[in-house]
Amino acid sequence: MTLEKFRNLIGGQWVGSAEWTANCNPADPGDVIGDFASADVTQLAAAFDAARNAQPSWAAASPQFRFDVLDRAGEIILSRKAELGDLLAREEGKSLPEAIAEAGRAGMIFKFFAGEALRLNGEILPSVRPGVKVEITREPVGVVGAITPWNFPIAIPAWKVAPALSYGNAVVLKPAEVAPACAWKLAEILVEAGAPDGVVNLVMGKGSVLGATLCELADAVTFTGSTEVGRRVLTATAAVGTKAQLEMGGKNPMIVLDDADLDVAVNCALQSAFFSTGQRCTASSRLIVTETIADRFAEALAQASDALIVGDPRDPRTQIGPVASREQFDSVRDYISGAVQEGAVMVAGGGKHNVPNEGYFIRPTLFDHTAASMTINREEIFGPVASIIRVSDYEEALACANDTEFGLTSGICTTSLAKAEHFKRNAQAGMTMVNLPTAGVDYHVPFGGSKASSHGPREQGSYAREFFTQVKTCYQTC
Ligand code: NAD
Repeated sequence: MTLEKFRNLIGGQWVGSAEWTANCNPADPGDVIGDFASADVTQLAAAFDAARNAQPSWAAASPQFRFDVLDRAGEIILSRKAELGDLLAREEGKSLPEAIAEAGRAGMIFKFFAGEALRLNGEILPSVRPGVKVEITREPVGVVGAITPWNFPIAIPAWKVAPALSYGNAVVLKPAEVAPACAWKLAEILVEAGAPDGVVNLVMGKGSVLGATLCELADAVTFTGSTEVGRRVLTATAAVGTKAQLEMGGKNPMIVLDDADLDVAVNCALQSAFFSTGQRCTASSRLIVTETIADRFAEALAQASDALIVGDPRDPRTQIGPVASREQFDSVRDYISGAVQEGAVMVAGGGKHNVPNEGYFIRPTLFDHTAASMTINREEIFGPVASIIRVSDYEEALACANDTEFGLTSGICTTSLAKAEHFKRNAQAGMTMVNLPTAGVDYHVPFGGSKASSHGPREQGSYAREFFTQVKTCYQTC
């Protein structure tokens, strides 16, 4: 059987490449979605040339024109979210409801940033010199290079491409090799929505081949992925003075205090740790629990974890799909066996029981009686694995939560208003959650972290303009 070929989009043309990569379904690796172009640096340079030619007239177009293109893209995505969700579940492994919700989120992001094209404002201030006025305006940065990971294969491309376009930039999008199909569909939708040739370019391929050149050719690079690769992007962009925005890894804590509502805490932990197969940068893998509630919490969470239905993500009954690739499967299983060797007590999951034979399935796995110093509590696992760290009181819990190089999200379950308020001010993270899962955020407000999780201005909401525009100050006699 001949596989469908998915080409790169360069200057409005769909272009094949010398190399191709098969995109496989992680629930059934024999099911191949298609062959996806794997570009070389010559193709990447052609995409940047096309973007550079197209960007000035896109920026000069009326904001109504940009609104219309983005709004139409949002409409198309929303009207096709069931189909896009099915594709997403097939290529990445998220359960169907989660995958459809992600596609819906991508649609809403485009609609939000359609409005941002109309809302971009400036300031006029009196000068300190008589007879002079000062105008402060925002201009596009030029051509944006967007590098995205596989775990939100439509939402993350959307939350980089939509603001870039809204504020008048052209884009070269390089999605992850593991799950490029949703990004390909997004590019196709943007063409259908009326994006002029060259304004949106899609270059699929290996980050190791394309990354350095992309950092050199772009006016600004927006990256989401691992901290290790993010640091490489930072070094490469700094070397040539390119603006960079990085969203990277996490090791997010969720504190459960003695006074917490047990059902709320268990539900928050279950969702934070295991939904989307734990493959969310905002997932919580460190559950920091005070002693008096710890036995009841561990027992209830272990029971709830064991009851989760793991299976084919496209079966509507499935709650937890497979991890996204063979590489993830091996890495997560290594972390699980390493934790057992380090003395963590497994109270749920672990093996391959109650999961389909084929595919990269791992049951949600919970460890109890773990030490904060264990590898599973220091490194990002990025799979359905969580551990309970028992502490004596809130002060110890907060210190433990902050004792990490990362700082993306941090959560607490408590009925104490005073503790919740103290936590919001003192948790070292870009986003804090009270009596809510650490994952699951709105699309119209800023997203991002602190410490090794993020670098540069925030993504999403109107705060996105900090990265995707540059400020100009104009002086004029009056
Ligand atoms: P990754 O770092 O392996 O890859 C991310 C992207 O970088 C891919 O497109 C890849 O091709 C590209 N890349 C690889 N080498 C490169 C190089 N040398 N130069 C430039 N680009 C290169 O990450 P992943 O495995 O795709 O995604 C999982 C990671 O993403 C996790 O660490 C997760 O926490 C993180 N993530 C963070 C956020 C956030 O907002 N903070 C959101 C989602 C995922």
